Amino acid sequence: MITLGGRRRELEVDPHPDGTHVLTEVPAIGGGMAVRARVLSGVDLPAQEPAYRSHTCPAPPPPKAPRCGICQGPMPIDVATLEGWTMHPCCDPAYQREAARQRTTPRARRSAA
Ligand SMILES: [Zn+2]
Repeated sequence: MITLGGRRRELEVDPHPDGTHVLTEVPAIGGGMAVRARVLSGVDLPAQEPAYRSHTCPAPPPPKAPRCGICQGPMPIDVATLEGWTMHPCCDPAYQREAARQRTTPRARRSAA
């Protein structure tokens, strides 16, 4: 909806007792009439005719964190997206194998020495 002052406002679909925008018709450029919103304030309130409130869309829900393909736990969305993770690095079977190898290698060396 465009106000008489030329500002674009999103209005709720149904009138509301707390509404501050009433609809009015004005001559349109090129002939005919155009519907505009008149913004009420101060002594004009409460409105004596159907009035509409400004509509503000609720914030969209935050994006869902991607889930690890192994443990199904949430992954940090920024890093997972940037690095193309499909699983936590620590859940990666290759990482697990390497970690297991590193855990056993020092003991094997000690026993061999
Ligand atoms: Zn995981």
